[in-house]
Amino acid sequence: MVLDDDVSCEQIRKRVRELDVLTEELLSEQREKSSLESSWSGNLGHWYWNVQTNTVVFDPLKIRALGYERSEVPDEIPYQFFTDLLHPQDYEPIMEQMRSHLRGDLPAYEVEYRIKAKDGSWKWFFDRGMIVRRTEEGAPLLLSGIVYDITAAKEREMELERQNHNLQIEAWTDPLTGIANRRAALRDLERVMELSALNKQPLYLCMFDIDHFKQVNDTQGHVYGDQVLKIIAGLLRDAVRGHDIAGRYGGEEFIAAFYGADEHQAQAIAERVRRQVQEYQFDRGVQVTISGGLQRYGYQSMTELISDADRKLYEAKAAGRNRIVS
Ligand code: GH3
Ligand code: MG
Ligand code: MG
Repeated sequence: MVLDDDVSCEQIRKRVRELDVLTEELLSEQREKSSLESSWSGNLGHWYWNVQTNTVVFDPLKIRALGYERSEVPDEIPYQFFTDLLHPQDYEPIMEQMRSHLRGDLPAYEVEYRIKAKDGSWKWFFDRGMIVRRTEEGAPLLLSGIVYDITAAKEREMELERQNHNLQIEAWTDPLTGIANRRAALRDLERVMELSALNKQPLYLCMFDIDHFKQVNDTQGHVYGDQVLKIIAGLLRDAVRGHDIAGRYGGEEFIAAFYGADEHQAQAIAERVRRQVQEYQFDRGVQVTISGGLQRYGYQSMTELISDADRKLYEAKAAGRNRIVS
């Protein structure tokens, strides 16, 4: 046998050993392949990674899924050829999976990731592989895996998640004013009550009700009334922060909860909203005011807390409206 000057015998032996390993693996998998192929064909690719030489052999499907022609990619590529194309957010979790598998902590390497196609778009791959050959000393030698292009399924899944997210927002939002609806406000109130009990922080609930709102509707019309509701909801929303709550409780009734505020601060916030409504320049020079009942949370039930605030609201109405009773 005549040897090229630049290739040593040792290199050739090494290459032959590599090819032997691969051939053996390919032959054994070929036996099982026909049954797999029928159901998976189209999106599937096989890969083999020789850990010792860091060469990856793959069938053309994987590379075509990324928009490359087989001829554009060298026959032998290192593991890094694919990992360099990974989405930055997916890189570390994949490496961790692979390290865990190589260490023997995981029976298989199994990941979903985004990988950059030739045209710059992101493809979603599901990739599963495992060590199929070890060196005599027991170190990983060859990994074999399958990769499946799940981009279409992922996009459907993400679209459903988006729709689901939008539906949830819709379910918790008052359509007229855009602030929390009754359901969301009561859910949040329950949470903030727990938080208050847990952290021994004061919590105040305020029920607001628009004064003589029926008259506003009767004289200005319901469309105008709706505008007033929107404006007042906006003022209330802007008055709260952090764990506070601002929601539409019913028709022209709003609730707000102030977390971590002492009595003086809670009164000041409620009072500020009341004054802002009074001073707001509504169209057609209409004057609108609100009344409020402010109640401190003292570990009573939520229903009791709301009734207590409601009683104070009634007192504010009875005392002439446009005021906060606490
Ligand atoms: P008070 O000062 O005692 O609260 O008098 P009020 O007129 O505000 O009280 P009442 O409960 O009699 O009237 C509430 C009104 O709120 C009646 C209803 O038409 C109006 N309202 C409730 N929801 C809406 C809404 O979504 N849009 C409009 N435009 N009006 C609403
Ligand atoms: Mg009312
Ligand atoms: Mg009213």
